[in-house]
Amino acid sequence: MHVPTHILSGWCIGNVFRLTARERLFCMAAATLPDLDGASYAFGKEAYWTYHHVACHNLLFAVVTAAVLAAFSARRAPAFIVYLGLAHVHFVLDYVGSGPGWPIDYGWPLWKSRWVNPDAWEFSGWQNRAAAGGLLLWTVAIAVVRRRTPVEMVSPSLDAKLVRRPPPAGVGFDTVARPRPGVAGGTLASPGSRRD
Ligand SMILES: [Zn+2]
Repeated sequence: MHVPTHILSGWCIGNVFRLTARERLFCMAAATLPDLDGASYAFGKEAYWTYHHVACHNLLFAVVTAAVLAAFSARRAPAFIVYLGLAHVHFVLDYVGSGPGWPIDYGWPLWKSRWVNPDAWEFSGWQNRAAAGGLLLWTVAIAVVRRRTPVEMVSPSLDAKLVRRPPPAGVGFDTVARPRPGVAGGTLASPGSRRD
């Protein structure tokens, strides 16, 4: 499935849980990182056909990336489970929406376990566009209700503009955002919210 769809899947599902801003960023990473093996295209089409959906679309890669991201998270054990789950959401989305003939080598390189879906949607099919549209609507709903967007960590000022609130202090790559007791979703709940 398309990379923006994977990113939004990580964002939307990450917002289901009580996570920090950094952890939500990691959710988007966990949901997207398996597509790193698409970089094999730089070495030619043959390498792409050989390694895409193989090198990073497997359980070992999912566990390693979830562990690395969890190591930099506030609550490592629950974060690890969420990140591992999101990698599997990626695999399932690819299984149904990457087009017929794209296997996923789930056991690579440890054992042989190849998922093949002969009835997968076409990559450019309406189902993939519908999935992207649904996630986009979900993202808008999060912006309206929770007042935060996927750019909350990479650009806190843009995030604040998009949801029309003052930029939060101490949130961004320079700070480890931690949840406060009683505040839904962590430090980005906005005590200074305004409407206009
Ligand atoms: Zn993929």
